[in-house]
Amino acid sequence: MWLWSPLLLSACVAQPDPGDDVADEDSDQEYVDVVVIGAGAAGLAAAGDAVAAGADVVVLEREAEAGGAANVAGGLMLFSGTPEQRAAGVIDSPAQLAAEWPGFTGGDVADPWFQFFAAQNIPMVYDYLASLGVRWLAPEREPSGGDTPRVQPVEGQGAALVAALLDAALDAGPGAATVRYGAQADELLLEDGRVAGVRWSDDDGGHILRAGATIVATGGFLRDLDRVRAAVPALGDAPLTYASWQGADGNGLTMLEDVGATTQNLGAVGFYAHGFAAPVAGVDEVVSSIVAETPWVNADALRFCDEAGVNSLVVGRTRALQPAGLAWMVADQRVEDAIFADPSAGGAVYRFADMEDAGSVTRADSLVGLADALGLDGDTFLATLADYNAASETDDPWRSAPGIPLVEPPFYALPVTISVAKAFGGVDVDLQGRVLDSEGKVLPGVYAAGELTGMLGGSIVGEYGFTGSLTAVVLGGRVAGQYAAAEALSR
Ligand SMILES: Cc1cc2nc3c(=O)[nH]c(=O)nc-3n(C[C@H](O)[C@H](O)[C@H](O)COP(=O)(O)OP(=O)(O)OC[C@H]3O[C@@H](n4cnc5c(N)ncnc54)[C@H](O)[C@@H]3O)c2cc1C
Repeated sequence: MWLWSPLLLSACVAQPDPGDDVADEDSDQEYVDVVVIGAGAAGLAAAGDAVAAGADVVVLEREAEAGGAANVAGGLMLFSGTPEQRAAGVIDSPAQLAAEWPGFTGGDVADPWFQFFAAQNIPMVYDYLASLGVRWLAPEREPSGGDTPRVQPVEGQGAALVAALLDAALDAGPGAATVRYGAQADELLLEDGRVAGVRWSDDDGGHILRAGATIVATGGFLRDLDRVRAAVPALGDAPLTYASWQGADGNGLTMLEDVGATTQNLGAVGFYAHGFAAPVAGVDEVVSSIVAETPWVNADALRFCDEAGVNSLVVGRTRALQPAGLAWMVADQRVEDAIFADPSAGGAVYRFADMEDAGSVTRADSLVGLADALGLDGDTFLATLADYNAASETDDPWRSAPGIPLVEPPFYALPVTISVAKAFGGVDVDLQGRVLDSEGKVLPGVYAAGELTGMLGGSIVGEYGFTGSLTAVVLGGRVAGQYAAAEALSR
Protein backbone atom coordinates (compact mmCIF):
# COMPACT_ATOMS: atom_id res chain seq x y z
CA MET A 1 0.00 0.00 0.00
CA TRP A 2 1.49 3.39 -0.96
CA LEU A 3 0.98 6.41 1.20
CA TRP A 4 1.24 9.29 -1.22
CA SER A 5 2.24 12.77 -0.23
CA PRO A 6 -0.01 15.56 -1.50
CA LEU A 7 2.86 16.64 -3.73
CA LEU A 8 3.10 13.32 -5.50
CA LEU A 9 1.20 14.14 -8.60
CA SER A 10 3.39 17.08 -9.43
CA ALA A 11 6.53 15.05 -8.82
CA CYS A 12 6.21 12.27 -11.37
CA VAL A 13 5.85 12.54 -15.06
CA ALA A 14 5.45 9.33 -17.01
CA GLN A 15 8.23 9.46 -19.61
CA PRO A 16 9.26 5.95 -20.59
CA ASP A 17 11.59 5.78 -23.53
CA PRO A 18 9.70 3.45 -25.84
CA GLY A 19 12.90 2.44 -27.55
CA ASP A 20 14.83 0.89 -24.70
CA ASP A 21 15.00 -2.61 -23.27
CA VAL A 22 13.46 -1.71 -19.96
CA ALA A 23 10.38 -0.24 -21.59
CA ASP A 24 9.88 -3.52 -23.44
CA GLU A 25 9.86 -5.45 -20.16
CA ASP A 26 7.43 -3.39 -18.13
CA SER A 27 4.96 -0.77 -19.17
CA ASP A 28 4.43 0.38 -15.56
CA GLN A 29 7.19 2.93 -15.45
CA GLU A 30 7.67 6.61 -14.79
CA TYR A 31 10.42 9.18 -15.02
CA VAL A 32 11.57 11.59 -12.35
CA ASP A 33 14.60 13.89 -12.19
CA VAL A 34 16.01 12.35 -9.02
CA VAL A 35 15.04 9.19 -7.18
CA VAL A 36 16.24 8.81 -3.61
CA ILE A 37 16.27 5.32 -2.12
CA GLY A 38 15.75 5.52 1.63
CA ALA A 39 14.06 8.21 3.74
CA GLY A 40 16.54 8.20 6.61
CA ALA A 41 18.39 11.36 7.65
CA ALA A 42 20.70 11.11 4.63
CA GLY A 43 17.97 10.48 2.08
CA LEU A 44 15.75 13.25 3.42
CA ALA A 45 18.64 15.72 3.42
CA ALA A 46 19.43 14.73 -0.17
CA ALA A 47 15.81 15.11 -1.22
CA GLY A 48 15.57 18.56 0.34
CA ASP A 49 18.56 19.90 -1.55
CA ALA A 50 17.57 18.27 -4.82
CA VAL A 51 14.10 19.84 -4.60
CA ALA A 52 15.59 23.21 -3.65
CA ALA A 53 17.71 23.01 -6.81
CA GLY A 54 14.56 22.63 -8.89
CA ALA A 55 14.47 18.86 -9.37
CA ASP A 56 11.37 16.74 -9.10
CA VAL A 57 12.16 14.03 -6.59
CA VAL A 58 10.65 10.73 -5.52
CA VAL A 59 11.85 9.12 -2.30
CA LEU A 60 11.27 5.37 -2.02
CA GLU A 61 11.02 4.19 1.59
CA ARG A 62 10.28 0.58 2.38
CA GLU A 63 9.05 1.26 5.91
CA ALA A 64 5.74 2.91 6.80
CA GLU A 65 7.47 6.03 8.13
CA ALA A 66 10.50 8.17 7.39
CA GLY A 67 13.57 8.52 9.59
CA GLY A 68 15.28 5.13 9.79
CA ALA A 69 17.86 4.94 12.56
CA ALA A 70 17.50 8.63 13.42
CA ASN A 71 14.04 7.90 14.81
CA VAL A 72 15.60 5.90 17.64
CA ALA A 73 18.77 8.00 17.94
CA GLY A 74 19.43 10.27 20.88
CA GLY A 75 20.30 12.93 18.34
CA LEU A 76 23.80 13.76 19.53
CA MET A 77 25.45 15.89 16.86
CA LEU A 78 29.02 17.12 16.60
CA PHE A 79 30.00 20.67 15.60
CA SER A 80 33.05 22.88 15.80
CA GLY A 81 32.06 26.46 16.56
CA THR A 82 28.35 26.84 17.38
CA PRO A 83 26.63 29.75 19.15
CA GLU A 84 25.91 27.40 22.08
CA GLN A 85 29.62 26.60 22.37
CA ARG A 86 30.48 30.29 22.37
CA ALA A 87 27.77 31.01 24.95
CA ALA A 88 29.29 28.31 27.16
CA GLY A 89 32.76 29.83 26.77
CA VAL A 90 34.03 26.92 24.65
CA ILE A 91 36.65 27.84 22.09
CA ASP A 92 36.35 25.60 19.04
CA SER A 93 37.00 25.79 15.32
CA PRO A 94 37.70 23.53 12.32
CA ALA A 95 41.41 23.75 13.19
CA GLN A 96 40.74 22.69 16.77
CA LEU A 97 38.64 19.77 15.53
CA ALA A 98 41.48 18.77 13.20
CA ALA A 99 43.99 18.91 16.02
CA GLU A 100 41.95 16.46 18.09
CA TRP A 101 40.54 14.25 15.31
CA PRO A 102 43.31 11.62 15.00
CA GLY A 103 43.31 11.15 18.76
CA PHE A 104 39.66 10.29 19.19
CA THR A 105 38.80 8.67 15.84
CA GLY A 106 42.11 7.26 14.61
CA GLY A 107 41.36 9.18 11.39
CA ASP A 108 43.59 11.09 8.99
CA VAL A 109 43.03 14.85 8.78
CA ALA A 110 44.52 14.87 5.29
CA ASP A 111 41.52 12.92 4.01
CA PRO A 112 39.58 15.34 1.78
CA TRP A 113 36.28 14.24 3.30
CA PHE A 114 37.54 15.18 6.76
CA GLN A 115 38.70 18.57 5.43
CA PHE A 116 35.24 19.08 3.96
CA PHE A 117 33.54 17.97 7.17
CA ALA A 118 35.64 20.34 9.27
CA ALA A 119 34.96 23.29 6.98
CA GLN A 120 31.26 22.62 6.37
CA ASN A 121 29.79 21.21 9.59
CA ILE A 122 28.71 24.70 10.64
CA PRO A 123 27.51 26.30 7.39
CA MET A 124 26.05 23.24 5.69
CA VAL A 125 24.70 21.38 8.70
CA TYR A 126 24.30 23.57 11.81
CA ASP A 127 23.21 26.76 10.03
CA TYR A 128 21.04 24.85 7.56
CA LEU A 129 19.27 22.80 10.21
CA ALA A 130 18.86 25.88 12.40
CA SER A 131 17.11 27.56 9.45
CA LEU A 132 14.70 24.59 9.44
CA GLY A 133 13.92 25.15 13.11
CA VAL A 134 16.20 22.50 14.66
CA ARG A 135 17.57 23.49 18.07
CA TRP A 136 20.26 21.94 20.24
CA LEU A 137 20.97 21.62 23.94
CA ALA A 138 24.25 22.83 25.43
CA PRO A 139 27.52 21.25 24.24
CA GLU A 140 28.86 18.28 26.18
CA ARG A 141 32.36 16.96 26.51
CA GLU A 142 32.00 13.46 25.07
CA PRO A 143 35.39 11.73 24.73
CA SER A 144 34.29 10.03 21.51
CA GLY A 145 33.78 13.59 20.21
CA GLY A 146 37.20 14.87 21.33
CA ASP A 147 38.51 16.87 24.28
CA THR A 148 36.47 20.00 23.53
CA PRO A 149 32.77 20.14 24.50
CA ARG A 150 31.29 19.92 20.99
CA VAL A 151 28.62 17.21 21.10
CA GLN A 152 25.14 18.73 21.23
CA PRO A 153 21.88 16.77 21.56
CA VAL A 154 19.07 17.85 19.28
CA GLU A 155 16.10 19.18 21.26
CA GLY A 156 13.50 16.46 20.76
CA GLN A 157 16.22 13.92 19.89
CA GLY A 158 16.63 12.26 16.49
CA ALA A 159 12.90 12.28 15.79
CA ALA A 160 12.88 16.11 15.79
CA LEU A 161 15.69 16.12 13.24
CA VAL A 162 13.73 13.73 11.04
CA ALA A 163 10.59 15.88 11.24
CA ALA A 164 12.51 19.00 10.18
CA LEU A 165 14.25 17.24 7.28
CA LEU A 166 11.01 15.66 6.08
CA ASP A 167 9.16 18.98 6.15
CA ALA A 168 11.99 20.60 4.23
CA ALA A 169 12.08 17.87 1.59
CA LEU A 170 8.35 18.18 0.99
CA ASP A 171 8.36 21.95 0.95
CA ALA A 172 11.72 23.08 -0.40
CA GLY A 173 10.59 24.24 -3.90
CA PRO A 174 11.04 25.12 -6.73
CA GLY A 175 11.00 21.38 -7.47
CA ALA A 176 8.53 18.97 -5.98
CA ALA A 177 8.95 15.91 -3.82
CA THR A 178 7.03 12.95 -2.63
CA VAL A 179 7.80 10.09 -0.32
CA ARG A 180 6.36 6.68 -1.18
CA TYR A 181 6.13 4.44 1.86
CA GLY A 182 6.08 0.68 1.71
CA ALA A 183 8.17 1.07 -1.46
CA GLN A 184 11.14 -1.27 -1.60
CA ALA A 185 13.95 -0.68 -4.09
CA ASP A 186 15.03 -4.05 -5.44
CA GLU A 187 17.64 -3.40 -8.11
CA LEU A 188 19.34 -0.52 -9.87
CA LEU A 189 18.70 -0.22 -13.60
CA LEU A 190 21.96 -0.36 -15.51
CA GLU A 191 21.80 0.76 -19.12
CA ASP A 192 24.89 1.24 -21.27
CA GLY A 193 27.04 1.50 -18.16
CA ARG A 194 24.82 4.14 -16.58
CA VAL A 195 22.44 3.79 -13.64
CA ALA A 196 19.14 4.94 -15.10
CA GLY A 197 16.79 4.44 -12.16
CA VAL A 198 15.49 1.60 -10.07
CA ARG A 199 13.25 -1.44 -10.07
CA TRP A 200 11.09 -1.30 -7.01
CA SER A 201 8.10 -3.08 -5.53
CA ASP A 202 5.17 -2.57 -3.22
CA ASP A 203 2.00 -4.46 -2.37
CA ASP A 204 0.83 -3.91 -5.95
CA GLY A 205 3.84 -5.67 -7.47
CA GLY A 206 6.98 -4.59 -9.31
CA HIS A 207 7.58 -1.23 -10.99
CA ILE A 208 10.27 0.72 -12.77
CA LEU A 209 11.17 4.29 -11.93
CA ARG A 210 13.57 5.86 -14.39
CA ALA A 211 15.55 8.85 -13.18
CA GLY A 212 18.03 11.45 -14.35
CA ALA A 213 20.04 10.62 -11.21
CA THR A 214 19.68 7.99 -8.50
CA ILE A 215 20.73 8.50 -4.88
CA VAL A 216 21.13 5.44 -2.69
CA ALA A 217 20.79 6.23 1.02
CA THR A 218 19.77 2.89 2.48
CA GLY A 219 21.82 2.98 5.70
CA GLY A 220 24.51 0.73 7.12
CA PHE A 221 25.17 -3.01 6.97
CA LEU A 222 25.69 -3.97 10.60
CA ARG A 223 22.66 -6.24 10.95
CA ASP A 224 24.39 -8.52 8.45
CA LEU A 225 26.72 -10.18 10.93
CA ASP A 226 28.35 -12.35 8.24
CA ARG A 227 29.46 -9.16 6.51
CA VAL A 228 30.62 -7.71 9.84
CA ARG A 229 32.76 -10.80 10.56
CA ALA A 230 34.18 -10.70 7.03
CA ALA A 231 35.06 -7.02 7.48
CA VAL A 232 36.64 -7.57 10.91
CA PRO A 233 38.18 -11.07 10.74
CA ALA A 234 39.68 -10.74 14.23
CA LEU A 235 36.16 -11.18 15.61
CA GLY A 236 36.24 -14.85 14.65
CA ASP A 237 33.18 -16.58 16.05
CA ALA A 238 32.78 -14.24 19.03
CA PRO A 239 29.13 -13.74 19.97
CA LEU A 240 27.88 -10.36 18.77
CA THR A 241 24.89 -8.31 19.83
CA TYR A 242 23.17 -5.50 18.00
CA ALA A 243 23.33 -1.82 18.89
CA SER A 244 22.48 -0.84 15.32
CA TRP A 245 19.10 -0.09 13.80
CA GLN A 246 17.14 -3.17 12.74
CA GLY A 247 16.89 -1.89 9.16
CA ALA A 248 20.66 -1.69 8.67
CA ASP A 249 20.82 -4.84 6.57
CA GLY A 250 23.31 -3.68 3.91
CA ASN A 251 20.93 -4.22 0.99
CA GLY A 252 22.03 -0.94 -0.57
CA LEU A 253 25.65 -2.07 -0.51
CA THR A 254 24.64 -5.20 -2.39
CA MET A 255 22.59 -3.22 -4.93
CA LEU A 256 25.53 -0.94 -5.61
CA GLU A 257 28.10 -3.75 -5.72
CA ASP A 258 25.89 -5.42 -8.32
CA VAL A 259 26.41 -2.45 -10.64
CA GLY A 260 30.17 -2.28 -10.02
CA ALA A 261 30.58 -0.07 -6.95
CA THR A 262 33.51 -0.57 -4.62
CA THR A 263 33.72 -0.19 -0.86
CA GLN A 264 36.38 1.04 1.51
CA ASN A 265 37.13 0.98 5.21
CA LEU A 266 34.44 -1.65 5.93
CA GLY A 267 36.48 -2.87 8.88
CA ALA A 268 35.94 0.47 10.64
CA VAL A 269 32.99 -0.85 12.62
CA GLY A 270 32.05 1.09 15.74
CA PHE A 271 31.58 -1.28 18.69
CA TYR A 272 30.31 -0.73 22.20
CA ALA A 273 31.09 -2.88 25.23
CA HIS A 274 28.68 -1.86 27.92
CA GLY A 275 26.41 -4.81 28.56
CA PHE A 276 25.64 -8.47 28.88
CA ALA A 277 23.59 -11.10 27.09
CA ALA A 278 19.94 -10.52 27.98
CA PRO A 279 18.29 -13.11 30.22
CA VAL A 280 15.28 -13.31 27.90
CA ALA A 281 14.89 -13.91 24.17
CA GLY A 282 14.09 -10.95 21.93
CA VAL A 283 16.21 -8.39 23.82
CA ASP A 284 19.59 -7.58 22.28
CA GLU A 285 21.45 -6.99 25.53
CA VAL A 286 21.07 -5.56 29.04
CA VAL A 287 23.21 -2.92 30.68
CA SER A 288 24.21 -2.28 34.29
CA SER A 289 26.29 0.40 35.97
CA ILE A 290 28.36 -2.36 37.56
CA VAL A 291 30.07 -3.05 34.24
CA ALA A 292 32.03 0.20 34.60
CA GLU A 293 32.94 -0.38 38.26
CA THR A 294 34.67 -3.73 38.03
CA PRO A 295 37.72 -5.24 36.30
CA TRP A 296 37.45 -7.07 32.97
CA VAL A 297 39.83 -9.82 31.94
CA ASN A 298 40.46 -11.50 28.61
CA ALA A 299 41.28 -15.10 27.75
CA ASP A 300 44.87 -14.48 28.85
CA ALA A 301 43.52 -13.49 32.29
CA LEU A 302 44.79 -9.94 31.71
CA ARG A 303 43.03 -6.59 31.86
CA PHE A 304 43.05 -4.64 28.61
CA CYS A 305 41.12 -1.34 28.79
CA ASP A 306 39.72 1.47 30.89
CA GLU A 307 36.58 -0.28 32.12
CA ALA A 308 35.15 3.08 33.21
CA GLY A 309 35.01 3.81 29.51
CA VAL A 310 36.36 7.28 28.76
CA ASN A 311 35.95 6.85 25.00
CA SER A 312 33.17 4.30 24.59
CA LEU A 313 34.10 3.52 20.99
CA VAL A 314 37.76 2.90 21.88
CA VAL A 315 36.75 0.64 24.77
CA GLY A 316 34.25 -1.18 22.57
CA ARG A 317 36.72 -1.80 19.80
CA THR A 318 39.44 -2.89 22.21
CA ARG A 319 37.07 -5.35 23.85
CA ALA A 320 35.83 -6.63 20.45
CA LEU A 321 39.35 -7.50 19.35
CA GLN A 322 40.43 -9.50 22.42
CA PRO A 323 41.87 -13.00 21.81
CA ALA A 324 39.15 -15.49 20.79
CA GLY A 325 36.61 -12.68 21.24
CA LEU A 326 36.42 -13.45 24.98
CA ALA A 327 36.23 -11.03 27.90
CA TRP A 328 34.54 -11.20 31.28
CA MET A 329 33.55 -8.74 33.94
CA VAL A 330 34.72 -10.08 37.31
CA ALA A 331 32.81 -9.12 40.43
CA ASP A 332 32.37 -10.16 44.01
CA GLN A 333 29.25 -10.77 46.07
CA ARG A 334 28.11 -7.16 45.60
CA VAL A 335 27.03 -7.87 42.04
CA GLU A 336 24.09 -9.78 43.49
CA ASP A 337 22.42 -6.39 44.15
CA ALA A 338 22.96 -5.08 40.62
CA ILE A 339 20.09 -4.16 38.33
CA PHE A 340 20.25 -5.07 34.63
CA ALA A 341 18.13 -3.00 32.25
CA ASP A 342 17.02 -3.35 28.65
CA PRO A 343 18.23 0.03 27.28
CA SER A 344 15.50 0.35 24.67
CA ALA A 345 12.67 2.77 25.36
CA GLY A 346 10.29 1.25 27.91
CA GLY A 347 12.67 -1.68 28.38
CA ALA A 348 12.31 -4.13 31.26
CA VAL A 349 14.56 -4.40 34.32
CA TYR A 350 16.12 -7.67 35.52
CA ARG A 351 17.76 -8.90 38.73
CA PHE A 352 21.03 -10.74 39.08
CA ALA A 353 19.05 -13.90 39.81
CA ASP A 354 17.50 -13.59 36.33
CA MET A 355 21.00 -13.45 34.84
CA GLU A 356 22.01 -16.57 36.79
CA ASP A 357 18.86 -18.41 35.75
CA ALA A 358 19.66 -17.60 32.11
CA GLY A 359 22.98 -19.41 32.50
CA SER A 360 25.35 -16.59 31.59
CA VAL A 361 26.98 -16.29 35.04
CA THR A 362 30.00 -18.26 36.26
CA ARG A 363 30.22 -18.54 40.07
CA ALA A 364 32.96 -19.76 42.44
CA ASP A 365 33.77 -19.42 46.13
CA SER A 366 37.34 -18.30 45.42
CA LEU A 367 39.16 -16.41 42.69
CA VAL A 368 41.24 -19.51 41.95
CA GLY A 369 38.05 -21.48 41.58
CA LEU A 370 36.66 -18.81 39.25
CA ALA A 371 39.78 -18.93 37.06
CA ASP A 372 39.44 -22.69 36.93
CA ALA A 373 35.78 -22.54 35.96
CA LEU A 374 36.57 -20.05 33.18
CA GLY A 375 39.53 -22.10 31.93
CA LEU A 376 41.99 -19.28 32.65
CA ASP A 377 45.52 -19.47 33.99
CA GLY A 378 45.05 -19.24 37.77
CA ASP A 379 48.36 -17.58 38.63
CA THR A 380 47.91 -14.85 36.04
CA PHE A 381 44.29 -14.32 37.06
CA LEU A 382 45.22 -13.96 40.74
CA ALA A 383 48.08 -11.58 39.93
CA THR A 384 45.85 -9.47 37.68
CA LEU A 385 43.17 -9.13 40.34
CA ALA A 386 45.64 -8.57 43.16
CA ASP A 387 47.08 -5.66 41.15
CA TYR A 388 43.54 -4.40 40.53
CA ASN A 389 42.61 -4.55 44.20
CA ALA A 390 45.79 -2.76 45.23
CA ALA A 391 45.36 -0.09 42.56
CA SER A 392 41.67 0.51 43.29
CA GLU A 393 42.75 2.10 46.56
CA THR A 394 45.53 4.14 44.99
CA ASP A 395 45.78 4.94 41.32
CA ASP A 396 44.76 2.33 38.77
CA PRO A 397 46.74 2.92 35.56
CA TRP A 398 43.97 1.38 33.47
CA ARG A 399 41.05 3.32 34.86
CA SER A 400 39.74 6.87 34.54
CA ALA A 401 37.52 6.40 37.64
CA PRO A 402 38.00 4.23 40.72
CA GLY A 403 36.72 0.66 40.64
CA ILE A 404 35.26 -1.53 43.42
CA PRO A 405 37.81 -3.91 44.98
CA LEU A 406 36.93 -7.60 44.86
CA VAL A 407 36.69 -8.77 48.47
CA GLU A 408 33.53 -10.70 49.36
CA PRO A 409 33.01 -14.24 48.06
CA PRO A 410 31.36 -15.69 46.13
CA PHE A 411 33.04 -14.35 42.99
CA TYR A 412 31.33 -14.08 39.65
CA ALA A 413 32.19 -13.64 35.98
CA LEU A 414 29.84 -12.45 33.23
CA PRO A 415 30.84 -12.22 29.56
CA VAL A 416 30.90 -8.58 28.40
CA THR A 417 29.04 -8.44 25.11
CA ILE A 418 30.36 -6.98 21.85
CA SER A 419 27.73 -4.58 20.54
CA VAL A 420 27.91 -3.84 16.84
CA ALA A 421 26.85 -0.21 16.59
CA LYS A 422 27.91 1.99 13.66
CA ALA A 423 29.39 1.54 10.19
CA PHE A 424 32.26 3.94 9.52
CA GLY A 425 33.18 2.38 6.20
CA GLY A 426 31.04 1.83 3.14
CA VAL A 427 30.55 2.65 -0.50
CA ASP A 428 33.37 4.71 -1.96
CA VAL A 429 32.21 8.09 -3.30
CA ASP A 430 33.95 11.16 -4.64
CA LEU A 431 33.50 14.66 -3.20
CA GLN A 432 30.29 15.07 -5.19
CA GLY A 433 28.79 11.92 -3.69
CA ARG A 434 29.21 10.02 -6.98
CA VAL A 435 29.71 6.30 -6.53
CA LEU A 436 33.10 4.97 -7.60
CA ASP A 437 34.15 1.63 -9.06
CA SER A 438 37.20 -0.41 -8.08
CA GLU A 439 39.42 1.67 -10.39
CA GLY A 440 38.24 4.90 -8.80
CA LYS A 441 36.12 5.81 -11.83
CA VAL A 442 32.69 7.39 -11.45
CA LEU A 443 29.71 5.09 -12.06
CA PRO A 444 27.50 7.43 -14.09
CA GLY A 445 24.09 8.35 -12.76
CA VAL A 446 24.37 7.09 -9.20
CA TYR A 447 25.16 8.77 -5.88
CA ALA A 448 25.34 7.49 -2.31
CA ALA A 449 25.10 9.09 1.12
CA GLY A 450 24.75 8.39 4.82
CA GLU A 451 25.81 5.36 6.83
CA LEU A 452 25.95 3.47 3.53
CA THR A 453 29.09 5.53 2.86
CA GLY A 454 30.53 5.04 6.36
CA MET A 455 28.70 8.25 7.43
CA LEU A 456 30.65 10.45 4.97
CA GLY A 457 32.82 9.60 2.01
CA GLY A 458 33.62 6.05 3.13
CA SER A 459 36.78 7.10 4.87
CA ILE A 460 36.19 9.98 7.23
CA VAL A 461 37.47 8.21 10.32
CA GLY A 462 39.98 5.60 11.33
CA GLU A 463 39.04 2.44 13.16
CA TYR A 464 37.21 3.97 16.13
CA GLY A 465 34.67 6.36 14.66
CA PHE A 466 33.06 9.17 16.58
CA THR A 467 29.90 10.29 18.35
CA GLY A 468 27.87 12.75 16.35
CA SER A 469 27.80 10.99 13.02
CA LEU A 470 24.37 12.44 12.19
CA THR A 471 26.25 15.64 11.31
CA ALA A 472 28.21 13.72 8.68
CA VAL A 473 25.10 11.89 7.44
CA VAL A 474 23.18 15.13 6.84
CA LEU A 475 26.22 16.71 5.16
CA GLY A 476 26.72 13.77 2.79
CA GLY A 477 23.03 13.74 1.96
CA ARG A 478 23.05 17.42 1.07
CA VAL A 479 26.11 16.99 -1.17
CA ALA A 480 24.54 14.06 -3.03
CA GLY A 481 21.24 15.91 -3.42
CA GLN A 482 22.85 19.02 -4.88
CA TYR A 483 25.07 17.25 -7.39
CA ALA A 484 22.46 14.67 -8.38
CA ALA A 485 19.96 17.46 -9.10
CA ALA A 486 22.53 19.37 -11.15
CA GLU A 487 23.28 16.26 -13.22
CA ALA A 488 19.63 15.38 -13.73
CA LEU A 489 18.61 18.90 -14.69
CA SER A 490 21.45 19.26 -17.17
CA ARG A 491 20.49 16.14 -19.12
C1 LIG B 1 19.95 3.40 19.00
C2 LIG B 1 20.76 4.32 18.11
C3 LIG B 1 21.16 5.55 18.61
C4 LIG B 1 21.93 6.40 17.81
N1 LIG B 1 22.28 7.61 18.31
C5 LIG B 1 22.97 8.46 17.54
C6 LIG B 1 23.29 9.75 18.01
O1 LIG B 1 22.90 10.15 19.11
N2 LIG B 1 24.04 10.56 17.21
C7 LIG B 1 24.47 10.15 15.97
O2 LIG B 1 25.14 10.91 15.28
N3 LIG B 1 24.14 8.95 15.48
C8 LIG B 1 23.40 8.11 16.24
N4 LIG B 1 23.05 6.89 15.74
C9 LIG B 1 23.45 6.56 14.36
C10 LIG B 1 22.60 7.35 13.36
O3 LIG B 1 21.27 7.42 13.79
C11 LIG B 1 22.68 6.68 11.98
O4 LIG B 1 24.03 6.53 11.61
C12 LIG B 1 21.98 7.53 10.92
O5 LIG B 1 20.67 7.86 11.32
C13 LIG B 1 21.96 6.78 9.60
O6 LIG B 1 21.19 7.50 8.68
P1 LIG B 1 21.02 7.00 7.17
O7 LIG B 1 20.00 7.88 6.56
O8 LIG B 1 22.34 6.90 6.52
O9 LIG B 1 20.50 5.51 7.29
P2 LIG B 1 19.17 4.92 7.93
O10 LIG B 1 18.74 5.72 9.07
O11 LIG B 1 19.43 3.48 8.12
O12 LIG B 1 18.07 5.13 6.80
C14 LIG B 1 18.02 4.31 5.67
C15 LIG B 1 16.58 4.30 5.19
O13 LIG B 1 16.53 3.57 3.97
C16 LIG B 1 15.43 2.67 4.01
N5 LIG B 1 15.74 1.56 3.12
C17 LIG B 1 16.74 0.66 3.24
N6 LIG B 1 16.77 -0.16 2.17
C18 LIG B 1 15.77 0.25 1.37
C19 LIG B 1 15.29 -0.21 0.09
N7 LIG B 1 15.86 -1.23 -0.54
N8 LIG B 1 14.22 0.42 -0.47
C20 LIG B 1 13.62 1.46 0.17
N9 LIG B 1 14.03 1.93 1.37
C21 LIG B 1 15.11 1.33 1.95
C22 LIG B 1 15.33 2.28 5.47
O14 LIG B 1 14.04 1.80 5.79
C23 LIG B 1 15.65 3.60 6.17
O15 LIG B 1 14.51 4.38 6.37
C24 LIG B 1 22.29 6.02 16.51
C25 LIG B 1 21.88 4.78 15.99
C26 LIG B 1 21.10 3.95 16.79
C27 LIG B 1 20.64 2.63 16.22
